Amino acid sequence: MINIGAYLEKSQPIVYKTFSNALKNNRLSHAYLLSGEAGIPLKETAIYLAKSILCDHPSPLADETCNTCVRVDHGNYADLLILDGAESSLKKDSVQEIVSDFTKTPLEEKKTMIYIIHLVENMTSEAVNSLLKFLEEPTKNTYAFLTTQNEARLLPTIISRCESMRMLLLPREEVIRDATTLNVSLDDAELLSYFLNSGELISLESKSDDYLEAKGAFLKTLEALSKERSDAIFTCEHDILPNVSSKEDGRYYLDMLSLCFKDLISLRECQTIKLTSYATLLMPLANKLGHLEESLLEIMKVRGQLDLNISVSLLVEHLFNYITKEF
Ligand SMILES: [Zn+2]
Repeated sequence: MINIGAYLEKSQPIVYKTFSNALKNNRLSHAYLLSGEAGIPLKETAIYLAKSILCDHPSPLADETCNTCVRVDHGNYADLLILDGAESSLKKDSVQEIVSDFTKTPLEEKKTMIYIIHLVENMTSEAVNSLLKFLEEPTKNTYAFLTTQNEARLLPTIISRCESMRMLLLPREEVIRDATTLNVSLDDAELLSYFLNSGELISLESKSDDYLEAKGAFLKTLEALSKERSDAIFTCEHDILPNVSSKEDGRYYLDMLSLCFKDLISLRECQTIKLTSYATLLMPLANKLGHLEESLLEIMKVRGQLDLNISVSLLVEHLFNYITKEF
């Protein structure tokens, strides 16, 4: 598991110090808004800070080893609720569930209730209204951690009722260097640095099935695009589609493909590329493939269509036909 305490101390010193001091001096706010760009571990940080309030032996933040910390990690702590806007849009019902839970008596010994709403921008407007009422009338020993990747999409009233903590985006070179120090290969580190802004997170993700499948499909795509059209379509059907069966797989794969097409455009224009470890694979494709800009737009369009519940296989197949139409 990632050591968020060490990550905050090293890479997010302002968040680390502000929160440690507030906790030490008993001056916690009742609501915090953690904001940062995609790739920053917002949800993990929110959980860690919540754990720091609850921890049996904080020093100054969560020790990660006490009974309470372990129970939070296993999702077995009754007075901590997490709503994840990354998984689905957050509806009024789920917020009202929290509101009604929190007006009851806490179940745990500490009598402290905490709720986390990850990616609060993904709430429906009805859900936001329920949340606002709740933020307006905080009850004693109740804390909220909201996270957002897009503060501009939040109502000013939400922002003004929370103490804001902005998380910094680390330079990509630093993230890649940290990841390679943790024995991640350079090509994995480079590719994942566009998804995760932490060497340690990259190290964990580089071994995950989701990543390995998406990367496998991505590499097969580069191989397929170097072939004749009929062979390319055959590879797509046999080696790529089985690896991108779910919406999440599809998103991961299409994001990798977007990066790749941006690099192909850069190569054609003799500019530096992002995925330097893929240069030898990309070079021949930059010369071979036509209509790169149109293909990139099509990749983005197809990615948007994933949310409309169209079959991932159909969309990827369509994309392959589109990219290879001039072969
Ligand atoms: Zn603890």
